[in-house]
Amino acid sequence: MTTENGSSPSIVVVGGGLAGASAVRELREAGHDGPISLVAAEPHPPYERPPLSKGILLGTAEAESAQVLETQWYADHDVSLFTGTAVTGLDPAAGQVLLGDTHLAYDRLLLATGSVPRRLPELDAHHLPVTYLRILEESVALRGWLVGATDGHLLIVGAGWIGLEIASAARQAGIRVTVVDPADQPLLKVLGPEVAPYFAALHRSHDVDLRLGVTVQEALADGAVMLSDGDTVRPDLIAVGIGVAPDDRLARAAGLAVEDGVLVDASLRTSDPRIFAAGDVANHDHPVLGRRIRVEHWDTAIHQGRAAARAMLGQGAPYERLPYFFTDQYDMGIEYVGSVGPDGYDEVAIRGDDLVAGLSALWIKDGVIVAGMHANDWDAIDDLRALVGGPAPEGTTDPEVTLGDLASRLG
Ligand SMILES: Cc1cc2nc3c(=O)[nH]c(=O)nc-3n(C[C@H](O)[C@H](O)[C@H](O)COP(=O)(O)OP(=O)(O)OC[C@H]3O[C@@H](n4cnc5c(N)ncnc54)[C@H](O)[C@@H]3O)c2cc1C
Repeated sequence: MTTENGSSPSIVVVGGGLAGASAVRELREAGHDGPISLVAAEPHPPYERPPLSKGILLGTAEAESAQVLETQWYADHDVSLFTGTAVTGLDPAAGQVLLGDTHLAYDRLLLATGSVPRRLPELDAHHLPVTYLRILEESVALRGWLVGATDGHLLIVGAGWIGLEIASAARQAGIRVTVVDPADQPLLKVLGPEVAPYFAALHRSHDVDLRLGVTVQEALADGAVMLSDGDTVRPDLIAVGIGVAPDDRLARAAGLAVEDGVLVDASLRTSDPRIFAAGDVANHDHPVLGRRIRVEHWDTAIHQGRAAARAMLGQGAPYERLPYFFTDQYDMGIEYVGSVGPDGYDEVAIRGDDLVAGLSALWIKDGVIVAGMHANDWDAIDDLRALVGGPAPEGTTDPEVTLGDLASRLG
């Protein structure tokens, strides 16, 4: 693709996370030889976040290992990497991103600004020792605390993926852990009442004090926290993992279409034809799911980053990949593919009865397998990928029929 004057377009990527880094790599691999700038608010070159609640928190991985591309890669590929630099605004009419007093001109722009943790202001206001877990510094600091806090007590607010991964790392460091969540089960919204209890059992088997249907009622001035079950706890540290919100502030201020993230079409183009969005911030019109979806997962950041890069070069195609994510907790890991829509599901076919020993689940809606998951059954993902999105074959709800057999029954 060339600009009107015949030169290669100038491309600016805002956001130095996984989506941004994946995009700039793809641009060069696809042969783009025009200028590329990657503007990252954080002081580091782009890094992956999953290790923040896994390897780095467990002390089994170095912070540097999370980097997406070696620092030298950017210079070697003539990508201008601005770290510690926040884009302050967009001027779509002029084709400029604003960096305070200065600006960068673009022919194509990718917004990959990710998401930011939802906060609990009542805890922040009392100056209690609170941490969130989104950035490298928080992970390193939390690891330091886990190692140093002998007999420490960690209160985790939120039994979602991040909260449960923190619980896992903390228990493995010998920390006393209480987890509170207003829902009746951990991960209830994603897994439903059939599968979520297995996660409650897993954490309780590791002596996590898991309090469900319980919220933080009040932070007391003396550092204690009153819970809605009437109990008062006195944690040494509180980790809050209550979800994230898309960081769509730049797009909103610039007048782009925004609703729970930056609205993009099937090919990741925003309401401005020169601007694209990818990763956590993108609210995507998914052509296969037939509805809008915003996905906050590692795999989507990589693949949407790449797809947006190709789209910016005029090689766009509908982004059709189904959502995928993974988690590791204790000696158990899961992979999940697909998505249960707002209308829910009719039934769940579960094989196995223990996450560690191996378990799989298929969520079925109107005769279609809309999502599938395995725990500790690492050969299952190919079968799950084959099954999800298609009609449930005969035997889907029969636990005696293996996933492999089911996949082989597909037409
Ligand atoms: C602790 C943790 C563990 C996770 N574990 C898993 C996992 O096991 N499996 C999984 O699938 N997913 C996991 N995720 C989710 C996954 O990491 C995210 O989906 C992914 O990071 C999204 O990438 P992104 O590039 O879209 O956004 P981000 O990673 O949020 O990066 C966006 C970047 O843009 C920058 N930015 C924002 N505004 C500006 C601006 N105005 N100017 C310049 N820069 C700006 C931000 O500072 C940030 O660095 C985890 C996330 C966290 C936090």
